[in-house]
Amino acid sequence: MRKSPFQFVFIIAIVVAALVSGGCSREASRAQDARMKMGTIVGITVYGKDEARAKAALEAAYVEIDRVEKLMSRYSENSEVSKLNKTGLTPFKASDELFMMLEKSIEYSEITGGAFDITVGPLMKIFRTSLEKGKAPDESAVANAASRVGFRKISLDSAAKTVAFESDGMEIDLGAIAKGYAADRAGAALKAVGAQSAIIDAGGDVLCVGSKPAGKPWTVALRNPRDPEDFLLKLAVKDSAVTTSGDYEQYFESNGKRFIHIMDPRTGKSATGCISATVIARTAMQADALSTSICVLGPSDGIKLIESIDGVEALIVSQDRKLFRSSGFSKFEAD
Ligand code: ADP
Ligand code: MG
Repeated sequence: MRKSPFQFVFIIAIVVAALVSGGCSREASRAQDARMKMGTIVGITVYGKDEARAKAALEAAYVEIDRVEKLMSRYSENSEVSKLNKTGLTPFKASDELFMMLEKSIEYSEITGGAFDITVGPLMKIFRTSLEKGKAPDESAVANAASRVGFRKISLDSAAKTVAFESDGMEIDLGAIAKGYAADRAGAALKAVGAQSAIIDAGGDVLCVGSKPAGKPWTVALRNPRDPEDFLLKLAVKDSAVTTSGDYEQYFESNGKRFIHIMDPRTGKSATGCISATVIARTAMQADALSTSICVLGPSDGIKLIESIDGVEALIVSQDRKLFRSSGFSKFEAD
């Protein structure tokens, strides 16, 4: 399959599925929009008692996404994460929210045996330059960056809420978890103003709030990772998140090798664990972190990880295009 070296494919299929399945019941009004946020398209559909309330809930959700983006974006110079990354070895006083994200991220690093690691910042810088050039990264640059990666080099002082890096040139990158977190926060924001039924699609991280107006589950279609026109299967979910990570969103090919935007922190190289990993969980943050981790771990260790955690399920498309399901995944498959 030939692809241009620059490839940004948004998982629009998921948004479309939400629209198709949403349907407007008589007692509910719908508000809907798709806006560019966090470097991707964030589509939100909210049902409310009337149009004004649905619209207000939609706006509240986007306001919350903007707030989270300002805190965690690695692109904005002024985000709290960017400020932390600039402080180097000096302890940084973090907000409660960022501190919580760092603690959670380290927990995911622990349970994934280091497959999930927010200290991949230096490797991501190299990846982005390579992506622009469409050229494999320089091995010595990768080795140098990899020496600054490692979640154990972050030290957190939970009493003082300070963060310190143990080696110079470290940078954190919340790209694998922040979109999920933003979706969760947006869901909470629209519930806080009274909405009970909504679907938020943050570039492939989907949060289903409640159910469809008539109490039926939401339908989320999973894109075929090797054909944007096709879908693999449909899921029926209520009050759950469905996120997908894969090798087809941000990647380039060089000498027949695919370089993707998910790094194996243990080698410093692009992950090769699978083509895609979809996770169903109660929160989009958990699903987001786990789907990225599985892309590093691959099907066998990925399924083991999922089976060891309560309330999560996964579908993995292996490099040879086989489907691997966790034991309870099929329960969510729609006809
Ligand atoms: P997407 O952003 O396409 O939804 P992911 O949720 O899988 O995909 O996140 C990928 C992003 O996470 C990368 O762009 C990078 O910012 C960050 N990242 C890359 N590798 C890792 C890793 N092993 N652990 C944690 N974060 C990672
Ligand atoms: Mg992720």
